[in-house]
Amino acid sequence: MSLGKFDLQGKTALVTGGSRGIGKSIALHLAAAGANVVLTYARSSEAANEVVRQIKEMGRDALAVQADAVDFAEAEKVVSDTIEKFKSLDILVNNAGITRDTLIMRMSEEQWDDVIRTNLKSVFNYSKAVIRPMMKTRAGSIINISSVVGVAGNAGQTNYAASKAGIIGFSKSLAKEVASRNIRVNVIAPGYISTEMTGQLDENILKSIEAQIPLKRAGEPEEVANAVVFLASDAASYLTGAVLGVDGGMGM
Ligand code: NDP
Repeated sequence: MSLGKFDLQGKTALVTGGSRGIGKSIALHLAAAGANVVLTYARSSEAANEVVRQIKEMGRDALAVQADAVDFAEAEKVVSDTIEKFKSLDILVNNAGITRDTLIMRMSEEQWDDVIRTNLKSVFNYSKAVIRPMMKTRAGSIINISSVVGVAGNAGQTNYAASKAGIIGFSKSLAKEVASRNIRVNVIAPGYISTEMTGQLDENILKSIEAQIPLKRAGEPEEVANAVVFLASDAASYLTGAVLGVDGGMGM
């Protein structure tokens, strides 16, 4: 079946943090749309290899690489290895992220630095590494995963909100720098999505969050992944610098 403008056959995608949660779903959905996929992870080798197995079962090629997203040299190596193996890199999804939630009164310098480096510096690392090759081919789609918290703020998440707001400013600036080379840079700001990251929350807090969501439920990773496939594809050829809320209306 042809997917028309959503078809990603012949394209190569790189997804950071593709072993679990939203990143795993993004990797699987990009592959289902036709792309070959390289995914990175920090620790979960087994889970990452299982994603690779599922992608290969779909008839696409895939590779999992253990690479700390904080490390610029590792990002450069992942990108050059990807291009060597797959001959192109068309789609970058900066998804890797962590939380270290606590009120500012109790937040340590380490908790601040860990979140800013993992969530924001990683976006610089991989974007910087892909931009030259994408400029050469005069094509590319970069999709950065921010959060509704980066737009609206959230008590107990000053570090996380700062990193996610930073992603939005970074993406809009980069979008302006590279638009003339036909490279599009967009942001997805998910709301509350069911993954291990949110699974640690207390049940009462969960209920109160769900009550504030206009669609009255948490989102699923695949609902974010569908938006990524759209932004990665030619169906989104006139979108750049956009911030797409996938949040059940939470950001309204
Ligand atoms: P999970 O905790 O379920 O998964 C995080 C992923 O990031 C894992 O694959 C993990 O690898 C990887 N990762 C973490 N640190 C690093 C690192 N230093 N280097 C490389 N990979 C790393 O998170 P989610 O799927 O919930 O979140 C994915 C993204 O979506 C994050 O950026 C998050 O901020 C954002 N988001 C999530 C929301 C939610 O409600 N869940 C809402 C809004 C945004 P490993 O398995 O090896 O640890």
